[in-house]
Amino acid sequence: MVTTMHWRLARSQLGLVLVNAPRVRLRPEIEGMQPYRQGKAAAEDAFKLSSNENPFEPIPAVLEAIASSSVNRYPDGSAIALRTALADHYALTPENVHVGAGSASILSQLITAAAGPGDEVVYSWRSFEAYPGFVAVAGATSVQVPNTADHRHNLDAMADAVTDRTRVVIVCSPNNPTGSVVTADEFTAFMAQIPETVLVLLDEAYIEFVTDDTAVRGPQLLAHYPNLVVLRTFSKAYGLAGLRVGYALGAEYVLDAARATTIPLSVIEPAQRAAIVSIEHQAELLERVAGLSVLRDTIWAALVEQGWDVPKPHGNFVWLPTGDITAWAADVFSDNGIVVRALGTDGVRISIGEHESVEKLLKASEEVVRKLRTAEG
Ligand SMILES: *Cc1c(COP(=O)(O)O)cnc(C)c1O
Repeated sequence: MVTTMHWRLARSQLGLVLVNAPRVRLRPEIEGMQPYRQGKAAAEDAFKLSSNENPFEPIPAVLEAIASSSVNRYPDGSAIALRTALADHYALTPENVHVGAGSASILSQLITAAAGPGDEVVYSWRSFEAYPGFVAVAGATSVQVPNTADHRHNLDAMADAVTDRTRVVIVCSPNNPTGSVVTADEFTAFMAQIPETVLVLLDEAYIEFVTDDTAVRGPQLLAHYPNLVVLRTFSKAYGLAGLRVGYALGAEYVLDAARATTIPLSVIEPAQRAAIVSIEHQAELLERVAGLSVLRDTIWAALVEQGWDVPKPHGNFVWLPTGDITAWAADVFSDNGIVVRALGTDGVRISIGEHESVEKLLKASEEVVRKLRTAEG
């Protein structure tokens, strides 16, 4: 029975507005979430250093691969050519490789595949902003373990947080946004404490920027840990953020579970082709990455010189723990033509971008650290 229409849709300048309408029933944990907020769009003359993107344009071979892709046909849903290229690169089989529309989408697939209502997902905090949302969408519960005072994962506390309800543990190295790495030794000690039935996701979105030999590198550990899946992406080092392509390496049955949750055909052909060409031109692309890592170290040294007490960064970004004055700090950067990512009352994350941005960045950071030191008295 249709009841009286006691509501109407009002067309205002703001779009459709429901007036006195009964609301449809949504999942409360989803309604309580904030939709993903992207790094602020930059003013024309500002440097957008808020999303850890690569400042370089694609190399000609990649542009050509994109331009020569057909788009009237669906892409190869199994992405077999790309998976084979990655498998060859890592000395694995294509079954041990899964590709997704960005490694963020694979994170979501794996969390959904392993954790549901009543289950827990353990990760460090602060870490990647997307983790809490993926866990909530899966219907599972986040267990966030605070970073140490020096902005690193507290791996012992994370291991202690694992219970019978834990289905997934996420380790992010280098950690977004704090830039710290987990060492290979620390990771080994950590894995020894984690039950083999718990899925461990090692998120290595920034691994190509790491120059520290002691840092953990996931692919070579896969043979030791059947419950480990390593996630990497073409978005950051390879400069393909706009094409959405990332990958996971791990046990076939786990990746099959991720594949089962996927929205089919979401990795488009231009992305698959550009990724293959990027692997072929890896040496050339990684030279650019090396340049960005050098620039990162230069910026970090200058920040320390200014009086910042910040951990050595290992990704393509630096972390400034600005605490309560974070919003103000972001404005100072913005006034100086730098768009940063402000994260709550914890700090700002600034991507390593164009050389031309450095002078402005350091001018702003100097003003912020002066205020911070004054506030500390
Ligand atoms: C950027 C990022 C990703 C993945 O990005 P995609 O563009 O979805 O591949 C994953 N993890 C972390 C920590 C990141 O910063």
